[in-house]
Amino acid sequence: MSTPIIQLEHVKKTYKDSNITVNALKDVNLSVSEGEIVFIMGPSGSGKSTTLHIISFLDTPTDGKRIFMGKDMSRLSEKEAAQIRKQWFGFVFQEFNLLPELTVWENIALPIRNLDKKTQKNRITQALEYVGLSDKAHRLAYQLSGGERQRASIARAIASQARIVVMDEPTGNVDSETEKYIAQMIIDINNKMKTTFIIATHSMRLVNSIPSRIIHIEDGRIPSSGAIL
Ligand code: ADP
Repeated sequence: MSTPIIQLEHVKKTYKDSNITVNALKDVNLSVSEGEIVFIMGPSGSGKSTTLHIISFLDTPTDGKRIFMGKDMSRLSEKEAAQIRKQWFGFVFQEFNLLPELTVWENIALPIRNLDKKTQKNRITQALEYVGLSDKAHRLAYQLSGGERQRASIARAIASQARIVVMDEPTGNVDSETEKYIAQMIIDINNKMKTTFIIATHSMRLVNSIPSRIIHIEDGRIPSSGAIL
């Protein structure tokens, strides 16, 4: 049995503004082990993105427990959360996409700008080779196609050597060839580096092409499965 890296227990998330309250998550339970590839699937509005945000310390549960590496980290200050994100997580999200006016190279360099120049250069060169974008390193991000942008975001996660990569609809805007390519990259990175992947998707084609576990969410609920991982 491998160690859970992240566990959510009876997590609730309520969004409130002046005149509306949304119970986005009502009772979410899950456990992800180190090195696993897990898909979160469910209809639009069921709470997939909110769950990913809580898992990756972009947002805080309103209630319930978030346990990270065995420690209760349900409520952290923004500074503590930012530190954990930086140290552990890579993001492949539409809304965290690349900065359009920077080159691919500069975008990948951003999360590792504190490392010395030589290490940065090695990591970026390797990551670009890995995703097949070496020839586009000096293109501005807005000049890339949707699939190339997704691959550049994956390169950014690889270069930062993130232990956990969270992806929100990584193949939402790409053709089926690019989807196959992204699936193969996920499998390779997971094999080589034991990176954990947590991926929200609607694509059965993506799910079926990667040996993985599926967690279903419906109307803000994931029942606790009781399964031993
Ligand atoms: P999914 O990713 O499965 O489409 P989300 O997690 O994005 O679902 O959203 C779950 C519910 O929470 C939806 O009803 C959505 O409208 C609502 N929601 C998400 N983010 C916010 C927010 N920042 N403020 C208010 N409501 C939100």
